[in-house]
Amino acid sequence: MLNAVENIIIQPISDLYNFHTTVDVLRLDQLHPIISGNKWFKLKKYIETAHRTGKSTLLTYGGAYSNHLVATAAAARMHGFKSIGIVRGERAENVSHTLLEAESYGMQLFHTSRDEYRQKKIPHQVMQHFAEDELLIIGEGGYGIDGASGAAEIYNIIGPDYTHIFTAVGTGTTAAGIISAAKGQQRVTGISVMKNNHSLATAIKALLPREHEREFALLHDYHFGGYARHTPELLTFMNHLFENTGIPTDFVYTGKIFYAVDSLVRKNLYGANDRLLIVHSGGLQGNRSLPNGTLIFPT
Ligand SMILES: *Cc1c(COP(=O)(O)O)cnc(C)c1O
Repeated sequence: MLNAVENIIIQPISDLYNFHTTVDVLRLDQLHPIISGNKWFKLKKYIETAHRTGKSTLLTYGGAYSNHLVATAAAARMHGFKSIGIVRGERAENVSHTLLEAESYGMQLFHTSRDEYRQKKIPHQVMQHFAEDELLIIGEGGYGIDGASGAAEIYNIIGPDYTHIFTAVGTGTTAAGIISAAKGQQRVTGISVMKNNHSLATAIKALLPREHEREFALLHDYHFGGYARHTPELLTFMNHLFENTGIPTDFVYTGKIFYAVDSLVRKNLYGANDRLLIVHSGGLQGNRSLPNGTLIFPT
């Protein structure tokens, strides 16, 4: 079951590190083990739209390690929808844990070539079984206006008291939601988990309301080799973070953002009056692809 949003905690960590700046963590990872924090918020409005428009089936796109596919499958089941996942590339002999899990929630998977995937084609086998108007199509990674407006509700838990808000960025949908909701002088910084994803700023702006002029920052130096790549340094950092704070992180997204904030604070970029908030967006199941024993905490 989903943990109620009211139960989500904000955990202070700066004392543990003797930081002179306040650093707190929004523990969205505790919302649900599968529909990890930000994915649930991103899907919320799509589910409402599907109910309102009488759709039977949620269709979305992802790669073999997509948290979004699993979250969509679980959310669809929870709300009585069927679900279809269009997966990039052929089905591997060793099917990923992620895809097996999506299937265990009843998601039907269709594999497409990389070309067809890029064009976001719906395979004709899908069209043989489903009428187009039964389907609610959700962009890859939940990217879209509904995704961002659901993610904007994360801000209701954060509120106006933080000067800086940090969030991990894949498609930018979550960041767009938080940026659109932020107030006053609040500065939102996205940490890109991909290498050289230079279209990101444009992708985020496309989801902001037109009159919206809030500036935001994107950092591109904390990808550790690229999407879903990691280094021994990152994994060691994640283990230390857990030892010091009890906070588990994943190597695809949240390990990278905690690392980034830790190094920014150590560079003395913030003052005693600044209040930093890290959005822990969940994603812990991504660690299951690591060899056993790599991390000192269970995921
Ligand atoms: C998917 C995911 C993100 C990225 O969210 P976007 O809205 O695509 O930028 C961040 N953190 C975690 C844990 C995720 O699973």
